[in-house]
Formats: sequence, structure tokens, C-alpha cells
Amino acid sequence: MQDHRKKPRLLGALGKNFPRTHALAAGAASFALALALSVSTPEVEAKRTALEVSLSLPEEAIQQSREHQQATPTAEAPHQSVMEGLRVVQETVRNGDTLSDLFQRAGISSAEMYQLLSSGKEAKQLAKLVPGEELTFQIDGEGSLQSLELHRDRLSKVEFSRDSSDEYKYALHQRDPERYTAFRQAEISSSLFVDGSKAGLSNNLIMEMADIFGSDIDFALDIRKGDKFSVVFDEEFLDGEKIGNGAIQAVTFTNQGKTFSAVRYTDSNGDTNYYTPDGKSMRKAFIRTPVDIGRISSHFNPRRLHPIFKTRRPHNGTDYAAPRGTPVYSAGDGRVIKAGYSKANGNYVFVQHGERYVTRYLHLHKRYVKRGQRVKQRQAIGTVGATGYATGPHLHYEFLVDGHHRNPATIVRKLPKAKAIPKSEMARFQTQTQPLIAQLERFQQPALAQNGEEKDSVN
Ligand SMILES: [Zn+2]
Repeated sequence: MQDHRKKPRLLGALGKNFPRTHALAAGAASFALALALSVSTPEVEAKRTALEVSLSLPEEAIQQSREHQQATPTAEAPHQSVMEGLRVVQETVRNGDTLSDLFQRAGISSAEMYQLLSSGKEAKQLAKLVPGEELTFQIDGEGSLQSLELHRDRLSKVEFSRDSSDEYKYALHQRDPERYTAFRQAEISSSLFVDGSKAGLSNNLIMEMADIFGSDIDFALDIRKGDKFSVVFDEEFLDGEKIGNGAIQAVTFTNQGKTFSAVRYTDSNGDTNYYTPDGKSMRKAFIRTPVDIGRISSHFNPRRLHPIFKTRRPHNGTDYAAPRGTPVYSAGDGRVIKAGYSKANGNYVFVQHGERYVTRYLHLHKRYVKRGQRVKQRQAIGTVGATGYATGPHLHYEFLVDGHHRNPATIVRKLPKAKAIPKSEMARFQTQTQPLIAQLERFQQPALAQNGEEKDSVN
């Protein structure tokens, strides 16, 4: 099943802060990555994030309760025949479908649809259907809707059923997949994606890995033959069939002889992040680029010839050419200190991060934030546009340290990482993550032993 919610963030994760001379090579690299991305893997991609509340009803119980509901209501003898006469219609949501389209295809009147939609706040979600979801209608002999099931995916099912007093009752049935720990490792001989897929990793997992190490390794430029990695993650199964992968639990990556490790940890506030085994965040305080797609169209340059004014004017930021409407993210946690419009800047947003740092985003098509508002790292604050003095859609991005302009493309690597696990939480962190690291090491052992054996037999 395709996951429509999770868009690949590969380009953002890979970063594109390369000098102009590398632009061509990197362009080719992203093209190759794009190609690699389009290659389908046998693995079914489905990330289940909304499983915290799990009713975990076995299908049988759901079935029984449904039969019970249908069998008990009001009527006596004739009801039985009506029940037997229920027509079951299954519809799959197609691109562009509205709920009315689906009701029409099922042969149910729009009056019935409005009755259901106005039955309560839960019914509102029927207005937000995603292609691929399935609806099951049960219709009685008079063409009246008796129940509607919305199968969001294989794990969750929403049910609206008419009760004896002609009201719709709402029920959410969720199943919990079985999770098994999986381990994969690979050595890179051609590319991260080719060797990763050969090792049985899905493209999503490869991208997650690239994202985890994104502030330490530039996956577009730094990867070399002989680099290697190992990953512990969960595989999710339903009724004995693999339905997807859970998150990466622990991972190591050796790049040009230097090994980086990361573990997944959910802190006491419920925030999940990746950390080094000694509790330092894998995240920088700032993301490298505030847009996921796009390329640097103009570098930070204190002595630039301005494209519109044709005079020497400093270019105090980095320009990222990207299609109009591309989301622009706040580079770090902070507070919006300015958001407005000016003739030169167009729509702009300035964000203050702590005492020393300010980031500026210019020529936006749309602004999503207001002055005074708190923003999180990677929160969309607007979209790429060409407002103000701009020759085409691009983001002009500035980075100021203590009031001085710095090169946004290189500054981030020089800044400190985001905060580490506080002392007060260190014991909790270690209790949770040490088993993961031990697991990763344990998995790695057999492979090493095997290599040793091979060597022996060659000798
Ligand atoms: Zn600019």
C-alpha cells in the first residue's frame, strides 16, 4: 500500500550546499538518485504512525459485534429477511472522487449522505478521503444505507452503522501489526541505493538513514566505495504477511573510515529523536537548506553584480531556485520577529533563534506565520515565490550570527548540534537505548565470523 502522507525528503536530507564547480556532478547525482527512487522494491511500503491508540480487536470479534448489532434491533421476523436482503457495495476511492461520487456509484441518495455527514463530528472525516481507501456500503431493500465502513488501510477501519433509533453509531477498529526486529547490512560498491536495495532495504529506509546522518554525512558528495552500514529496524506483519517497516531503531554508518552511530529514543515528553549512543542529538540546531527541492541559483557573495540593478551589491544570502509553491521551512526552532511585505523583499519572514541567530526568508509566494509566533525546526513558514525584486521563483535565504551575515550554505556545519539528553534523563536514555546498541552489535557478529571463515577457506 502506498503511503500518501509521507513525502520523500531526500533532497533536503542530502543537502545541496556545494560550490558551483560541483553543481553538475551533484545534479547528475540527484538525477541518479531520482532514478534509483523510481525503481520499485518488492517490499510494501507503509508507515503506520497513528497506532498509539490500538483497540486491537480481532477480526472475529468485530464480525461478531457487527452481526450482533444488526441482529438485535427493533424488528422481529420481517427484519431477518431485510437483513438477508442487504446489498453490499464496495467502492475504492479514485483520484478526484468526492463522497457524492462514491454514494452515487453505490446507488444511494444524497439525502442519505447528508444524514450521515451531519450525524456527528466523526462523520466529518468522510469528507477527507484519500485515493486507494475503500468504502463498504450495506444497503437495505429500500435503498437505504444501513452501514458504511471506511477502510483507511489494512490496520484501521471506521464504521458508521444505523442503530434502532435510526441514528448513526461510530466505531473505530484498529489492529496492531506484529513487529519483528530485522537487521540489514551492506557495503557500498556502486551506490547507496543499489547496494541498500540489494541488502533488502526499502528506499524509504535508505532515505530515513540518510536523514538521520544528514548533518554528518553529505550523501550526495561524501559517499565512497567501501563505505558500509548496518541497520536494526522493525518489520510489520499482518496475518503473516509483511505490510511495512517500522522506524529505524539503531544504525551505524562508516563513511570514508569514520563510523557514526545513532539510536532512536522517545524522551519523557514523548518526543522521538535520534541520538549518538552517548546521548548527543543527531540533529543540528539548524537544517542545512530551508527547501527540500531546488538548487542554489546564486551564492552568498559580498561582491556580486546585482541581476536587476547591474551594480556591485553584496549578495547577503543564498538563492534557491525552486518551483512556486514549494514549502519553505524554518531552519530551526525559534520565534517569528518579522513577517510582512515590502517592495524589495516581497513577502518575507524573519525568525530569531535563541540570542544570537536570525534567519530570513524573502520573495515568498505565501506566508504561513505571523509576527510573535513560535516555530519549530522544519515547520513550513511559507512557500517559494517571486514577490518583490525577483527575476523568477526562488527563495532568498539569509543567515545572521550576532547581526552579521554569514554564508547560509556553509555556516550550519560550523554551528553546535541541537541539545543533548539532559543529565536528569540520562539513566532513562541508557536503559532504553543500550539494548538497541547491543542488538546491533550482536547482529553484526555473525557476519564478521562468516567473513573470517571465508578467509580461512581461501587460505
Ligand atoms: Zn538573493
